[in-house]
Amino acid sequence: MQVDVVVVGGAVMGASCAYWLTAMRPGLSVLVVEQDPSFARASTALSVASIRQQFTTAVNVQISRFGIEFIRHFKDRMGLHLGLKENGYLFLSQTEEGARTLADVARMQQAEGAATEVWSPDQIAARFPWLYVADLTAGSFGPRDEGWFDNMGLLSGFRSMARQQGATFVTDRVTGLAVTGGKVTGVMLEKTGQVTCGAAINAAGTRAAEVCRMAGLDLQVEPRKRTVFVIDAPNARHPDAPLLVDHGFYLRPEQGHWITATVPQDDGPCAPDDFEPDLHLFEEVIWEQLYHRAPGFDAVKVVRHWVGHYAYNRLDQNAILGPHPDLPNLYLCNGFSGHGLQQSPAVGRGIAEHLLTGAWQTINLSDLSVTRMVENKPFREMAIV
Ligand SMILES: Cc1cc2nc3c(=O)[nH]c(=O)nc-3n(C[C@H](O)[C@H](O)[C@H](O)COP(=O)(O)OP(=O)(O)OC[C@H]3O[C@@H](n4cnc5c(N)ncnc54)[C@H](O)[C@@H]3O)c2cc1C
Repeated sequence: MQVDVVVVGGAVMGASCAYWLTAMRPGLSVLVVEQDPSFARASTALSVASIRQQFTTAVNVQISRFGIEFIRHFKDRMGLHLGLKENGYLFLSQTEEGARTLADVARMQQAEGAATEVWSPDQIAARFPWLYVADLTAGSFGPRDEGWFDNMGLLSGFRSMARQQGATFVTDRVTGLAVTGGKVTGVMLEKTGQVTCGAAINAAGTRAAEVCRMAGLDLQVEPRKRTVFVIDAPNARHPDAPLLVDHGFYLRPEQGHWITATVPQDDGPCAPDDFEPDLHLFEEVIWEQLYHRAPGFDAVKVVRHWVGHYAYNRLDQNAILGPHPDLPNLYLCNGFSGHGLQQSPAVGRGIAEHLLTGAWQTINLSDLSVTRMVENKPFREMAIV
């Protein structure tokens, strides 16, 4: 078999790349290879499915500016409603330095078109009276363009539209990359055998480094475990609550319940097939802080939990995008470190534009280039949730 582009990984990034490539260049042959079309262990399916404008790097705000419009108008383009709930994000600070940082970052976000507001503790209490604010110095809130949506709807829309536009999706596993003369010339598939290609896109999520290793390349991306808890709190019914980012946990409402998670103190790489939950985190880390911030969470019950993996970029927790300098027809779309779902519309478009034209077009994504990884020059995103 011979195709123009092979995409390794068919979850949200792979499907978005296939959608944009086939939209921009009708007739291009794009093969998307996915080993598990149930997506049971893909980050896409295990995500908390939220979008924000509150990032600390301008390029990430630009990516989200496009992302929110794309998600809001998804039905017009893809025929599917994503049920966007625009409750906003509320980041809290407990120090004067933190308050100054929120104000500085909000100015940058506003310059990029975001609506971020910086609030005093009194303003926070006026809007969300169920929060304890006496130990806070400030909060930043996005009154529009931030909230949550249907993750699997986003994936499904990209897949079905890419298919309609001519992309082919196969269930198979990429086991090797053929490299000749400084280029990827093909991929080895477990069942199908070798496929010859003009270019390849690595959209393998937490297994991105494995795919790079197939071409003899290093990539500082590793799986990191996140246990997410769905809790019932009968004395805390606040359906208008934002996604709250506090010291040590985040929280958002979900259909009468709440979703919450934290970063484990001993955070580090895990095996890509380790989905054992860290159940102690709710009792030992989250609950005390949650109850301190919102006394209505005095009686809580964990009703469900799940484990997902971040594809964690060890260098700077930011996406790694575009051609690899040592293998220019291998495009990376990796390392999203917990914020890739919302970035998939803009990133898929960016990768497609670069692959077809040789340069970034609508958004300049060069800050997120593979070159910075190879040169060990971090471009850090500080707002990692
Ligand atoms: C708990 C949690 C909460 C999150 N919350 C948010 C959020 O609120 N907002 C947000 O924007 N992002 C969030 N994220 C991050 C987001 O889910 C991911 O960044 C995004 O889904 C990444 O998509 P992906 O397609 O790159 O990777 P994945 O969804 O992991 O997909 C990679 C795919 O590649 C396939 N694959 C791998 N290797 C091979 C191979 N050799 N051959 C064939 N197929 C292969 C896998 O089977 C998999 O389906 C969260 C993630 C987690 C875990």
